[in-house]
Amino acid sequence: MSADLNKKMVSLGTQRSVIRELFEYGKMKAAEIGAENVFDFSIGNPSVPAPPCVNETAVKILLETDPVILHGYTSAAGDADVRAALASSVNRRFHTDYTADHFYMTVGAAAALCCCFHGLCNDGDHVIIFAPYFPEYTVFVEGAGAKPIIIPADTKAFQIDFEALEQMLTPDVKAVVVNSPNNPSGVVYSEDTVKKLSAMLDEKSKEYHHPIYLIADEPYREIVFSGTTVPFLPDYYKNTLVCYSWSKSLSLPGERMGYVLIPPAVEDSREVYAAIAGAGRSLGYVNAPSLFQRVCAACADETSDVTVYETNKKILVNALREMGYHVVEPDGTFYMFPRSLEPDDAAFAERAKKYHLLIVPGCGFGCPEHVRISYCVPTATIEKSLGAFEALAREYR
Ligand code: PLP
Repeated sequence: MSADLNKKMVSLGTQRSVIRELFEYGKMKAAEIGAENVFDFSIGNPSVPAPPCVNETAVKILLETDPVILHGYTSAAGDADVRAALASSVNRRFHTDYTADHFYMTVGAAAALCCCFHGLCNDGDHVIIFAPYFPEYTVFVEGAGAKPIIIPADTKAFQIDFEALEQMLTPDVKAVVVNSPNNPSGVVYSEDTVKKLSAMLDEKSKEYHHPIYLIADEPYREIVFSGTTVPFLPDYYKNTLVCYSWSKSLSLPGERMGYVLIPPAVEDSREVYAAIAGAGRSLGYVNAPSLFQRVCAACADETSDVTVYETNKKILVNALREMGYHVVEPDGTFYMFPRSLEPDDAAFAERAKKYHLLIVPGCGFGCPEHVRISYCVPTATIEKSLGAFEALAREYR
């Protein structure tokens, strides 16, 4: 007897992502030769702890809240007081006037994105994604029955190739996803890029007589260097939905907490909100975890101490450039995306393993001939790894 299962799901559940594969390899290698000798730059797990506010608030809430309420269901969209507190925090920072009703709490940015794709898209709608991109985007978009349309990377600056976008922005496009600060390039979209994108989306929405939604995926919003500002996209384009999470800014990826912000300026915003809520319902994603809804709301104005990422970035960018690597300077996150030293990025990443250097081939991010380095590691690891990067570069001289 053979089970007639959903083959696509079986394959998604069986194949580990390249990043996870490397991460597991790193653990195996660490057991063999000692963790201090493995330079694991594979995964984006924050290396700095959450700020003290997180644990202090969690303990306080656990001790002081009626457990029947605390561990009970919240409303499907998230606790109303939590959403009101988030609205106040966002309003203070971005001079907006949102209310609790504009926020839908989710299990991380991943669920926020899935709710958007499922809520907005009908079968066969197109969703535009800019390379290099977070690899799960294609899984999420296809899971919602839509078709991912990949815009090739602008490898000079990792901004947007507007010529390519214009060609692929057909009437089938329902939504465009942007991720700035970007995983894997670390680049922040300039205000000029954001203005051009907004103008093009406005123009095409008018031409096609339907809104094209901009989905701003922003888990790295607070991780920026040297005073870089990240344009707040709802200020530039009215049909913007913001997907946020505290996975990186508060170093809480395991707690799975995020939200979708549906600003009132979005066309038919109550209907769009209903679609997001309906998607959450149909996916079984209602009621994000109660304790951490409350913790994140109380700590919404805080960020982990992310200075180590900037220190690591400076050391690594300078050293890699001296060794002959080409790197576009990251403005934030804890990733950089240098060019691989041979056209086959997978072969290059494989060769790097010889020096116990675990870096992720760019092809998985839709941008071959590059590799991603996640430098969310202690600075000592960065310093120790430089010899390995140099030995790798020497092979190509
Ligand atoms: N979007 C991007 C660009 C990411 O890098 C990640 C995680 O690494 C996510 C979304 C998913 O975030 P979360 O862990 O909050 O679901």
